[in-house]
Amino acid sequence: MTPLYQRVAFIGLGLIAGSMALAMRRGGLVAEIVGTARSAETRAIAAEIGLVDRVTDTAAQAVEDADLVVLCVPVGAMSAVAQEIAPYLAQGATVTDVGSVKQAVIDAVGPHMPRHVHFIPGHPLAGTEHSGPRAGFAELFDNRWTILTPLEGADAAATDRLTRLWQGMGAQVDVMDPPHHDLVLAVTSHTPHLIAYTMVGVADDLRRVTDSEVIKYSAAGFRDFTRIAASDPTMWRDVFLTNKDATLEILGRFTEELFALQRAIRRGDGDHLHAYFSRTRAIRRGIIDAGQDTDAPDFGRSKR
Ligand code: NAP
Repeated sequence: MTPLYQRVAFIGLGLIAGSMALAMRRGGLVAEIVGTARSAETRAIAAEIGLVDRVTDTAAQAVEDADLVVLCVPVGAMSAVAQEIAPYLAQGATVTDVGSVKQAVIDAVGPHMPRHVHFIPGHPLAGTEHSGPRAGFAELFDNRWTILTPLEGADAAATDRLTRLWQGMGAQVDVMDPPHHDLVLAVTSHTPHLIAYTMVGVADDLRRVTDSEVIKYSAAGFRDFTRIAASDPTMWRDVFLTNKDATLEILGRFTEELFALQRAIRRGDGDHLHAYFSRTRAIRRGIIDAGQDTDAPDFGRSKR
């Protein structure tokens, strides 16, 4: 198959960039993969394990002659990276990103993009709580969704090529407008992470009272919270700083529901609790039916 891109440049070499590089190789989707990261340590590891074909010292060197540039750094670092690479971007190159919040990335990166490149923001809805250059694996995007949020007037051919790349990496692709993406993700990912962080924090306080019982009996539901709450602190700090309005909106609704359930418990309103839990159980069934998780006790994460 003819490669979709001749040279891909990754800025940032963590979980997402690493998984993309491995998935691109698996599919024979690109001719050459170049990458760089902020620290010499990450660059050395990436070179040692052959994560990319060539590691460069700077972002400016990485993007030279690249027809696809993928920004794989935390959302809060996107603006500085965009500014740094802008003068070195090749004519007609596509610049995309994988940031978990879209409007903030567009505001941060868009103003730095020269007119001769196609900026097409994106977000793969796939991840783990692991980070760094050793965390990536080729199957991460298989049967997961990637959302592209092309700007008004975006080049259709460039968007189509990027879509085919994601499909080649195993993903299904949807297009959304950026504010809608940020609201959907506030419901499906951002607020659940905050709740997990809170629950683990509460249990940690409790641990001082109950000693090791919280760890010992964690299989009873708490363990999945701890997995989510082990996610990268920098990435998640940036998500809440940049998707403030949508997460506050969803948190407000969450708090109202929580109070309603609290009242039902206080009043012994079993009907309310049963009806509520029946509704949520149906949602879980729907996710499994849509192929986005399995019924297995490890929730399909055994491949990791
Ligand atoms: P990661 O494994 O922690 O890797 C982040 C990379 O960015 C590292 O190479 C790091 O370099 C570099 N970096 C960090 N801060 C930087 C800065 N201030 N300036 C320049 N480079 C910097 O992160 P990841 O999980 O791949 O996440 C990358 C992006 O993907 C984020 O925008 C995140 O929102 C998005 N995303 C993550 C997930 C997920 O579940 N993890 C899912 C979908 C999308 P060093 O190693 O040298 O520090």
